[in-house]
This record gives sequence, structure tokens and C-alpha cells, in this order.
Amino acid sequence: MEFNWITIKKPLLEWYQKSHRDLEWRNTKEPYYIWISEIMLQQTRVEAVKGYYERFLREVPDIKALSIIEEEKLLKLWEGLGYYNRARNLKKAAIQIMELYDGRFPTKYKEVVGLPGIGEYTAGAICSICFGLPTPAVDGNVLRVMVRLSDCYDNIDDLKTKRMARQNLLSLYHKGNCDLLTQAFMELGAMVCIPNGVPKCQECPLRETCLAYRRNTWNKLPVRKEKKKRKIEEKTVFILHDGNQYGIRKRGSKGLLADMWEFYHVDARLNARQAVDYISEHGFEPVLLEKEIPYTHIFTHVEWRMTAYYIECRKKKEELLWVDKNAFETMYALPSAYKVFLEKES
Ligand code: SF4
Repeated sequence: MEFNWITIKKPLLEWYQKSHRDLEWRNTKEPYYIWISEIMLQQTRVEAVKGYYERFLREVPDIKALSIIEEEKLLKLWEGLGYYNRARNLKKAAIQIMELYDGRFPTKYKEVVGLPGIGEYTAGAICSICFGLPTPAVDGNVLRVMVRLSDCYDNIDDLKTKRMARQNLLSLYHKGNCDLLTQAFMELGAMVCIPNGVPKCQECPLRETCLAYRRNTWNKLPVRKEKKKRKIEEKTVFILHDGNQYGIRKRGSKGLLADMWEFYHVDARLNARQAVDYISEHGFEPVLLEKEIPYTHIFTHVEWRMTAYYIECRKKKEELLWVDKNAFETMYALPSAYKVFLEKES
């Protein structure tokens, strides 16, 4: 990444101060708030996070409250954001902060990066934004901007590239502007040098120095490892209900959506006749097959091609928990892959 990095600092900071979006978590330096926002923003769009962030802080206002929250309530607050281990790690880290730091968020990078669920990027963001430390936060967005600026063809999925980027940024991080620099890079990557589609170079405060812009090579950057194709899995999902009571069960404690609630299902594609036979053979008394709805849910590495059968039945199978439909609003967190069937029902 051969580039005169210092030349970008002034125009980047000036642009950020004039043009940044007014986001709730930008108006605070309280580490608890920044931490929650950063974890929510991993893999999730800003627009989707806004509502969750406000509700979460209303219900769980501080580290102490987070350390004692019931898991069911925590997952319910997280429902729809996905990657539920992020929520579980928040609670684990809160317990650790209560035990090791007397409930106060640690202020040293080494302590922050040692907390569950907090990697180098999040620790860098929290420490620079909240404590003004020279700890650049380098994620895919920042790397994309940096390799374009320097017209660099190193693979951004390599740790080496990330380390080098961090090293380069360190030369810009000085006392007094670390918080703004971190946020300015994030904002530029999100709003101008965007991940999908054509970067908005005409609006970019760095275009005069950007090598990819000058050489017209932006569309070749960043260089990444080729993504593995998603695995495809077929599933037949049974939305079993006895009147207003719906049958759900907990998933196993390992793998995708570990310990989350789900509808009864089988890992195969069954037609309507086979579906009714299947549940008869597995301890239910089907009364009426009401409808069939196909739906595909895409996770990062796998795609579930699901066919759901809504079946009125008499509840029998002991391994299911039968809950009132209203309970899905208040108590039981269903991952989006299943919740969608309740939404499609009405
Ligand atoms: Fe990205 Fe274009 Fe700005 Fe270069 S000029 S950093 S390619 S938006």
C-alpha cells in the first residue's frame, strides 16, 4: 500500500464534519452505547439497526442490566437481527465487566479486545471513539477504501493486508482526532466508496489523491478470495397448531441458530401427502392441511429451501412446547427463517 496517507487526513475530516449522517450512536461517547451499536452493526444495515438500538437501550440501559438479563428476553430483543451469538456474547462480556472491572467498561485496548465477542475491529472502534486512543478500526469497508486510494492489489481477506492497513492508519491517528478519523472512514466506506455498485467518486473528498480514481481502476478493487458457493439444504417445515396453540421446539446447542426456537421440520422436501403421513407417523393427529408456502432463507454459507405446511392437528408430541400465538410477540424469539411463516399466515 504505497501511498502518502497523510494527504487524506484533512479533506477526510473536513468532509466528515460537514456531511455525516446524524445517527443516534454518533451523539455519545458512552462506551456501553458504542459497544451495543458496533455489535449490532456487524453484518446488519444501519437502517435496520436504528429501531433495535433504541429499543435495546430502553430495555437494557446499562452493563449491570445486561449482565443479569434472562437469555430468553435477550434473544427476544435481538430477534430479527440474526447471528444470535452476538447477543449471547454481549451478556458474557457484561458479566466479565461486572466481575473484573466493577461494572465499569475497561478503558485499555488490551482489556477491551479480551472481552467475549469483541475483536480487533470493535475494540479499535470503541477505544478510538470513546477514549480517543490511537486504535484504528479496520474492517472490510475501511480496507476497500484504502486499497482503492492506494491502487493496491493485495488480497483484502489476508491478515497481512489488514495488518499493513492498520499500520498505515496509525500514522494518521494522533491525539485529539482519533474518534473522528474512525467515524470518517466508516462513513466514507458506507456512503461514498460503497461496497456494491459504482463508488460515488464525484462526491468523494479524496478523489484528487485517489489512485484508483486517477487510473480508473476502482472496478478491479478490492481483490478478494473467491467466495465458496452456498450449500443448499431442502427442508419441510410443519406449522402445527391446535387452535391457537403452536408447536415449537429448541434447536440443539451447536451449529447454526444454536439453542433458538424452531418449528418442527425434517431435512427433506416432502409433498403434501408425504407431509401429512410423516406427522401422523410421528405422534400427531392431523385434522386439516390448510396451506403450503415455499420460502428460501439465505444465511452466509447456506441456503434453506423450505416448504412449509400449515396443519391443524391435535397436540400430542411431547417433545414440542405448545404456546399461544401471542407468546411469539412477547416471549419466544423465533429466528427470521421461521418467523416468516407466522407473518405469511395472516
Ligand atoms: Fe473510492 Fe472513488 Fe473516493 Fe477513490 S475517489 S476513494 S474510488 S469513492
